[in-house]
Amino acid sequence: MDDCGSHTGGCLCGRVTYKIKSKLKNIVACHCKQCRVWSGHIWASTACPIDKLSITSNVESLSWYISSDHARRGFCNKCGSSLFWQQTINGEQANYYAIAAGSLHEPINLDLDRHIFCKFKGAYYAIDSSEQQDQTY
Ligand SMILES: [Zn+2]
Ligand SMILES: [Zn+2]
Repeated sequence: MDDCGSHTGGCLCGRVTYKIKSKLKNIVACHCKQCRVWSGHIWASTACPIDKLSITSNVESLSWYISSDHARRGFCNKCGSSLFWQQTINGEQANYYAIAAGSLHEPINLDLDRHIFCKFKGAYYAIDSSEQQDQTY
């Protein structure tokens, strides 16, 4: 799909806004328990290199929660919107952000690419069998 390479987004209350100067990856839906609790259902995200994303308002409203040795999660500390996920590798932050698909300003020309951590999905919903499901975890 066509991706213009320039995007904006933000949280529910509008205190945290961001700009991305990069083409975005298609959307991955994560069904792991941490993502389900954090997002309220499943965590659907795109991704970009960290140097392509800038916070364009109220950087003090963005807080990070260290959710495990493997990742931290960025959110608005006023309205609680889940915004970013960043992997931690051997104590270092990875050089890309996963970005909440729902926080991007419309329109976005992205498709759902695949589902991950499917075996940890909730029992109350089904994953469309026509969509790719990563079976490695
Ligand atoms: Zn907010
Ligand atoms: Zn997850």
